[in-house]
Amino acid sequence: MDYVEHVVDLVGNTPLVKLNALTEGLQPLVLAKVEYLNPGGSVKDRIALRMVEAAEKSGELRPGGTIVEPTSGNTGVGLAMVAQRKGYHCVFVCPDKVSEDKRNVLKAYGARVVVCPTAVPPEHPDSYYSVSDRLVEEIDGAWKPNQYANPENPASHYHSTGPELWQQTEGRITHFVAGVGTGGTISGTGRYLKEVSDGHVSVVGADPEGSVYSGGSGRPYLVEGVGEDFWPETYDRTVADEIIAISDAESFEITRRLALEEGLLVGGSCGMAVAAALKLAKRLGPDDVIVVLLPDGGRGYLGKVFNDQWMSSFGFLSPDQSGATVGDVL
Ligand code: PMP
Repeated sequence: MDYVEHVVDLVGNTPLVKLNALTEGLQPLVLAKVEYLNPGGSVKDRIALRMVEAAEKSGELRPGGTIVEPTSGNTGVGLAMVAQRKGYHCVFVCPDKVSEDKRNVLKAYGARVVVCPTAVPPEHPDSYYSVSDRLVEEIDGAWKPNQYANPENPASHYHSTGPELWQQTEGRITHFVAGVGTGGTISGTGRYLKEVSDGHVSVVGADPEGSVYSGGSGRPYLVEGVGEDFWPETYDRTVADEIIAISDAESFEITRRLALEEGLLVGGSCGMAVAAALKLAKRLGPDDVIVVLLPDGGRGYLGKVFNDQWMSSFGFLSPDQSGATVGDVL
Protein backbone atom coordinates (compact mmCIF):
# COMPACT_ATOMS: atom_id res chain seq x y z
CA MET A 1 0.00 0.00 0.00
CA ASP A 2 1.18 3.48 -0.83
CA TYR A 3 0.34 6.12 1.77
CA VAL A 4 1.84 8.64 4.15
CA GLU A 5 1.28 8.74 7.93
CA HIS A 6 -0.07 12.31 7.94
CA VAL A 7 -0.78 15.01 5.37
CA VAL A 8 2.17 17.01 6.78
CA ASP A 9 4.49 14.36 5.32
CA LEU A 10 3.56 15.70 1.86
CA VAL A 11 5.16 19.15 2.36
CA GLY A 12 7.70 20.03 -0.36
CA ASN A 13 8.81 18.27 -3.53
CA THR A 14 6.48 20.40 -5.64
CA PRO A 15 6.68 20.10 -9.45
CA LEU A 16 8.06 22.43 -12.12
CA VAL A 17 5.63 23.38 -14.90
CA LYS A 18 6.71 25.02 -18.17
CA LEU A 19 5.02 28.30 -19.08
CA ASN A 20 3.89 28.27 -22.70
CA ALA A 21 1.44 30.97 -23.88
CA LEU A 22 2.82 33.72 -21.66
CA THR A 23 6.37 33.18 -22.90
CA GLU A 24 5.53 33.21 -26.62
CA GLY A 25 8.25 35.03 -28.56
CA LEU A 26 10.70 34.85 -25.64
CA GLN A 27 13.86 32.72 -25.86
CA PRO A 28 14.53 31.26 -22.37
CA LEU A 29 12.81 28.23 -20.89
CA VAL A 30 10.57 29.56 -18.10
CA LEU A 31 9.51 27.04 -15.46
CA ALA A 32 7.05 27.65 -12.62
CA LYS A 33 7.61 26.03 -9.19
CA VAL A 34 4.00 25.32 -8.27
CA GLU A 35 3.81 25.74 -4.49
CA TYR A 36 0.02 25.56 -4.24
CA LEU A 37 0.49 21.80 -4.58
CA ASN A 38 1.79 21.71 -1.00
CA PRO A 39 -0.86 20.13 1.27
CA GLY A 40 -1.74 23.44 2.98
CA GLY A 41 -1.87 25.13 -0.43
CA SER A 42 1.22 27.35 -0.26
CA VAL A 43 4.98 27.67 -0.01
CA LYS A 44 4.55 28.53 3.68
CA ASP A 45 3.99 24.88 4.64
CA ARG A 46 7.75 24.53 4.33
CA ILE A 47 8.63 27.19 6.89
CA ALA A 48 5.80 26.19 9.25
CA LEU A 49 7.11 22.66 9.62
CA ARG A 50 10.73 23.66 10.12
CA MET A 51 9.98 26.52 12.57
CA VAL A 52 7.75 24.28 14.75
CA GLU A 53 10.22 21.38 14.82
CA ALA A 54 13.09 23.70 15.73
CA ALA A 55 11.03 25.24 18.57
CA GLU A 56 10.20 21.77 19.91
CA LYS A 57 13.89 20.89 19.94
CA SER A 58 14.90 24.15 21.66
CA GLY A 59 12.11 23.78 24.25
CA GLU A 60 10.41 27.08 23.28
CA LEU A 61 7.27 25.17 22.27
CA ARG A 62 6.04 22.71 24.88
CA PRO A 63 3.30 20.04 24.61
CA GLY A 64 -0.18 21.62 24.48
CA GLY A 65 1.29 25.08 23.81
CA THR A 66 -0.25 27.87 21.68
CA ILE A 67 1.26 29.18 18.46
CA VAL A 68 0.67 32.95 18.07
CA GLU A 69 1.69 34.59 14.79
CA PRO A 70 0.94 37.66 12.67
CA THR A 71 0.23 36.11 9.27
CA SER A 72 -1.48 37.04 6.03
CA GLY A 73 -3.01 33.60 5.92
CA ASN A 74 -0.65 31.19 4.24
CA THR A 75 1.80 30.83 7.13
CA GLY A 76 -1.23 30.37 9.36
CA VAL A 77 -2.54 27.49 7.28
CA GLY A 78 0.85 25.77 7.37
CA LEU A 79 1.17 26.30 11.12
CA ALA A 80 -2.44 25.18 11.77
CA MET A 81 -1.88 21.98 9.80
CA VAL A 82 1.37 21.20 11.63
CA ALA A 83 -0.30 22.13 14.97
CA GLN A 84 -3.12 19.67 14.24
CA ARG A 85 -0.55 16.92 13.76
CA LYS A 86 1.28 17.77 16.97
CA GLY A 87 -1.54 18.87 19.30
CA TYR A 88 -0.94 22.64 19.61
CA HIS A 89 -3.45 25.54 19.64
CA CYS A 90 -3.21 28.47 17.21
CA VAL A 91 -4.06 32.20 17.35
CA PHE A 92 -3.42 34.21 14.19
CA VAL A 93 -3.35 37.98 13.74
CA CYS A 94 -4.16 39.29 10.23
CA PRO A 95 -4.27 42.76 8.64
CA ASP A 96 -7.78 43.67 7.44
CA LYS A 97 -6.77 43.68 3.75
CA VAL A 98 -6.55 39.88 3.89
CA SER A 99 -9.57 38.33 2.21
CA GLU A 100 -12.37 36.85 4.28
CA ASP A 101 -11.97 33.57 2.41
CA LYS A 102 -8.41 33.28 3.69
CA ARG A 103 -9.45 34.04 7.27
CA ASN A 104 -12.20 31.42 7.08
CA VAL A 105 -9.68 28.82 5.99
CA LEU A 106 -7.70 29.44 9.19
CA LYS A 107 -10.88 29.08 11.28
CA ALA A 108 -11.72 25.84 9.48
CA TYR A 109 -8.45 24.37 10.78
CA GLY A 110 -9.56 25.32 14.32
CA ALA A 111 -7.49 28.50 14.73
CA ARG A 112 -8.62 31.74 16.40
CA VAL A 113 -8.25 34.78 14.10
CA VAL A 114 -7.76 38.41 15.25
CA VAL A 115 -8.11 41.13 12.58
CA CYS A 116 -6.16 44.45 12.72
CA PRO A 117 -6.09 47.61 10.54
CA THR A 118 -3.64 47.62 7.58
CA ALA A 119 -3.17 51.39 7.42
CA VAL A 120 -1.16 51.85 10.65
CA PRO A 121 2.65 51.74 11.07
CA PRO A 122 4.20 48.55 12.56
CA GLU A 123 4.99 50.30 15.89
CA HIS A 124 1.33 51.39 16.37
CA PRO A 125 -0.41 49.52 19.26
CA ASP A 126 -3.15 48.31 16.87
CA SER A 127 -0.74 47.03 14.19
CA TYR A 128 -0.82 43.33 13.68
CA TYR A 129 2.77 43.07 14.87
CA SER A 130 1.99 44.85 18.18
CA VAL A 131 -1.23 42.92 18.81
CA SER A 132 0.50 39.59 18.34
CA ASP A 133 3.27 40.60 20.79
CA ARG A 134 0.60 41.46 23.37
CA LEU A 135 -1.15 38.11 22.88
CA VAL A 136 2.11 36.22 23.40
CA GLU A 137 2.47 37.89 26.81
CA GLU A 138 -1.14 37.20 27.79
CA ILE A 139 -1.49 33.54 26.73
CA ASP A 140 0.11 30.89 28.94
CA GLY A 141 2.44 28.57 26.99
CA ALA A 142 2.43 30.86 23.95
CA TRP A 143 5.19 30.72 21.36
CA LYS A 144 5.59 33.14 18.46
CA PRO A 145 7.37 31.66 15.44
CA ASN A 146 8.01 35.21 14.15
CA GLN A 147 8.49 34.39 10.49
CA TYR A 148 10.01 37.87 9.98
CA ALA A 149 13.00 37.13 12.23
CA ASN A 150 13.15 33.34 12.54
CA PRO A 151 16.31 31.96 10.85
CA GLU A 152 14.44 28.66 10.29
CA ASN A 153 12.31 30.50 7.67
CA PRO A 154 15.16 31.04 5.15
CA ALA A 155 16.78 27.80 6.40
CA SER A 156 13.72 25.79 5.29
CA HIS A 157 14.25 27.06 1.74
CA TYR A 158 18.00 26.54 1.92
CA HIS A 159 17.38 22.90 2.84
CA SER A 160 14.32 22.12 0.67
CA THR A 161 13.34 24.55 -2.12
CA GLY A 162 16.93 25.21 -3.23
CA PRO A 163 18.07 21.55 -3.48
CA GLU A 164 14.79 20.59 -5.19
CA LEU A 165 15.33 23.20 -7.92
CA TRP A 166 18.94 22.16 -8.47
CA GLN A 167 17.90 18.50 -8.83
CA GLN A 168 14.79 19.15 -10.92
CA THR A 169 16.72 21.28 -13.45
CA GLU A 170 19.75 18.97 -13.34
CA GLY A 171 21.86 22.00 -12.48
CA ARG A 172 20.72 23.92 -15.58
CA ILE A 173 18.83 26.69 -13.77
CA THR A 174 20.40 30.07 -14.63
CA HIS A 175 17.94 32.47 -12.96
CA PHE A 176 15.68 32.20 -9.93
CA VAL A 177 12.78 34.66 -9.57
CA ALA A 178 10.65 35.03 -6.44
CA GLY A 179 8.45 37.64 -4.81
CA VAL A 180 9.77 39.08 -1.55
CA GLY A 181 7.67 39.22 1.62
CA THR A 182 9.62 38.10 4.68
CA GLY A 183 12.43 37.43 2.22
CA GLY A 184 12.74 33.84 3.44
CA THR A 185 12.11 32.26 0.03
CA ILE A 186 14.54 34.38 -1.95
CA SER A 187 17.24 34.45 0.75
CA GLY A 188 17.29 30.71 1.52
CA THR A 189 16.68 29.36 -1.99
CA GLY A 190 18.91 31.98 -3.57
CA ARG A 191 21.80 31.38 -1.17
CA TYR A 192 21.69 27.62 -1.78
CA LEU A 193 21.58 28.03 -5.57
CA LYS A 194 24.49 30.48 -5.54
CA GLU A 195 26.61 28.18 -3.39
CA VAL A 196 25.89 25.02 -5.35
CA SER A 197 26.45 26.74 -8.74
CA ASP A 198 29.58 28.67 -7.69
CA GLY A 199 27.70 31.93 -8.20
CA HIS A 200 26.39 31.10 -11.68
CA VAL A 201 22.70 31.33 -10.78
CA SER A 202 21.29 34.87 -10.78
CA VAL A 203 18.69 35.67 -8.15
CA VAL A 204 15.97 38.19 -9.00
CA GLY A 205 13.39 39.54 -6.56
CA ALA A 206 9.93 40.75 -7.55
CA ASP A 207 8.44 43.50 -5.41
CA PRO A 208 5.23 45.55 -5.47
CA GLU A 209 5.78 49.18 -6.51
CA GLY A 210 5.92 51.20 -3.28
CA SER A 211 7.57 48.52 -1.11
CA VAL A 212 10.97 49.07 0.51
CA TYR A 213 12.79 46.29 -1.39
CA SER A 214 12.50 48.20 -4.67
CA GLY A 215 13.27 51.58 -3.10
CA GLY A 216 9.75 52.60 -2.04
CA SER A 217 8.61 54.05 1.27
CA GLY A 218 6.14 51.28 2.05
CA ARG A 219 3.12 53.04 0.51
CA PRO A 220 0.11 50.74 0.19
CA TYR A 221 -0.40 48.34 -2.70
CA LEU A 222 -3.04 45.68 -3.18
CA VAL A 223 -1.10 42.52 -3.97
CA GLU A 224 -1.04 40.32 -0.84
CA GLY A 225 1.82 38.52 0.90
CA VAL A 226 4.70 40.45 -0.66
CA GLY A 227 6.47 43.77 -0.19
CA GLU A 228 7.18 45.40 3.17
CA ASP A 229 7.33 48.77 4.87
CA PHE A 230 10.36 47.67 6.96
CA TRP A 231 13.45 45.46 6.47
CA PRO A 232 12.87 42.02 8.09
CA GLU A 233 15.79 40.08 9.56
CA THR A 234 14.88 37.12 7.34
CA TYR A 235 15.78 39.11 4.23
CA ASP A 236 19.46 38.73 3.31
CA ARG A 237 20.39 41.82 1.29
CA THR A 238 23.46 40.10 -0.19
CA VAL A 239 21.54 37.42 -2.12
CA ALA A 240 19.38 39.14 -4.78
CA ASP A 241 21.26 40.46 -7.81
CA GLU A 242 18.34 42.59 -8.86
CA ILE A 243 14.88 43.62 -7.66
CA ILE A 244 12.16 44.33 -10.22
CA ALA A 245 9.21 46.52 -9.14
CA ILE A 246 5.82 45.49 -10.49
CA SER A 247 2.60 47.52 -10.37
CA ASP A 248 -0.64 46.08 -8.99
CA ALA A 249 -2.16 46.39 -12.48
CA GLU A 250 0.58 44.24 -14.05
CA SER A 251 0.51 41.71 -11.20
CA PHE A 252 -3.23 41.19 -11.47
CA GLU A 253 -3.31 41.08 -15.27
CA ILE A 254 -0.65 38.36 -15.38
CA THR A 255 -2.39 36.50 -12.52
CA ARG A 256 -5.58 36.30 -14.58
CA ARG A 257 -3.68 35.25 -17.68
CA LEU A 258 -1.96 32.43 -15.76
CA ALA A 259 -5.41 30.89 -15.17
CA LEU A 260 -6.79 31.67 -18.64
CA GLU A 261 -3.78 30.76 -20.74
CA GLU A 262 -1.73 28.32 -18.62
CA GLY A 263 -4.40 26.60 -16.50
CA LEU A 264 -2.69 27.81 -13.31
CA LEU A 265 -5.21 29.32 -10.86
CA VAL A 266 -2.80 31.17 -8.57
CA GLY A 267 -2.63 34.20 -6.24
CA GLY A 268 -1.70 37.79 -7.07
CA SER A 269 1.89 37.52 -5.87
CA CYS A 270 2.36 34.74 -8.45
CA GLY A 271 1.30 37.10 -11.23
CA MET A 272 3.74 39.63 -9.81
CA ALA A 273 6.62 37.13 -9.82
CA VAL A 274 5.78 35.94 -13.35
CA ALA A 275 5.57 39.56 -14.58
CA ALA A 276 9.14 40.04 -13.30
CA ALA A 277 10.26 36.73 -14.87
CA LEU A 278 8.85 37.83 -18.26
CA LYS A 279 10.64 41.19 -18.08
CA LEU A 280 13.86 39.30 -17.31
CA ALA A 281 13.25 36.74 -20.08
CA LYS A 282 13.06 39.51 -22.67
CA ARG A 283 16.76 40.26 -22.04
CA LEU A 284 17.97 36.62 -22.02
CA GLY A 285 18.76 33.95 -24.61
CA PRO A 286 17.79 30.38 -25.55
CA ASP A 287 20.28 28.73 -23.16
CA ASP A 288 18.81 30.41 -20.10
CA VAL A 289 16.53 28.54 -17.72
CA ILE A 290 14.41 30.76 -15.47
CA VAL A 291 12.56 29.26 -12.52
CA VAL A 292 9.81 31.45 -11.05
CA LEU A 293 8.25 30.42 -7.75
CA LEU A 294 4.43 30.61 -7.48
CA PRO A 295 3.66 30.84 -3.72
CA ASP A 296 -0.06 30.00 -3.55
CA GLY A 297 -3.30 29.15 -5.34
CA GLY A 298 -6.02 31.49 -6.59
CA ARG A 299 -9.02 30.23 -4.63
CA GLY A 300 -8.39 32.65 -1.76
CA TYR A 301 -8.73 35.58 -4.18
CA LEU A 302 -11.96 34.81 -6.06
CA GLY A 303 -13.59 37.95 -4.62
CA LYS A 304 -10.64 40.12 -5.63
CA VAL A 305 -8.25 39.45 -8.54
CA PHE A 306 -10.74 37.13 -10.24
CA ASN A 307 -13.74 39.40 -9.63
CA ASP A 308 -14.36 41.84 -12.53
CA GLN A 309 -16.20 44.32 -10.34
CA TRP A 310 -13.41 44.47 -7.75
CA MET A 311 -10.82 44.85 -10.52
CA SER A 312 -12.83 47.63 -12.24
CA SER A 313 -13.27 49.50 -8.95
CA PHE A 314 -9.48 50.03 -8.93
CA GLY A 315 -9.33 50.78 -12.66
CA PHE A 316 -7.54 47.51 -13.47
CA LEU A 317 -9.93 46.40 -16.21
CA SER A 318 -9.95 49.48 -18.45
CA PRO A 319 -10.69 48.69 -22.14
CA ASP A 320 -7.08 49.17 -23.27
CA GLN A 321 -5.86 46.82 -20.52
CA SER A 322 -8.35 44.00 -21.01
CA GLY A 323 -7.29 43.62 -24.66
CA ALA A 324 -3.57 43.92 -23.96
CA THR A 325 -0.91 41.41 -24.93
CA VAL A 326 2.28 40.70 -22.98
CA GLY A 327 4.18 42.95 -25.37
CA ASP A 328 1.78 45.83 -24.72
CA VAL A 329 2.03 45.60 -20.96
CA LEU A 330 5.67 44.80 -20.31
N1 PMP B 1 3.31 35.35 -1.78
C1 PMP B 1 2.43 35.06 -0.81
C2 PMP B 1 0.99 34.86 -1.18
C3 PMP B 1 2.86 34.96 0.53
O1 PMP B 1 1.98 34.68 1.50
C4 PMP B 1 4.24 35.18 0.81
C5 PMP B 1 4.71 35.11 2.24
N2 PMP B 1 4.55 36.33 2.96
C6 PMP B 1 5.12 35.49 -0.22
C7 PMP B 1 4.61 35.54 -1.50
C8 PMP B 1 6.57 35.85 0.01
O2 PMP B 1 7.39 34.85 0.51
P1 PMP B 1 8.54 35.19 1.57
O3 PMP B 1 7.88 35.60 2.84
O4 PMP B 1 9.30 33.93 1.70
O5 PMP B 1 9.38 36.30 1.04
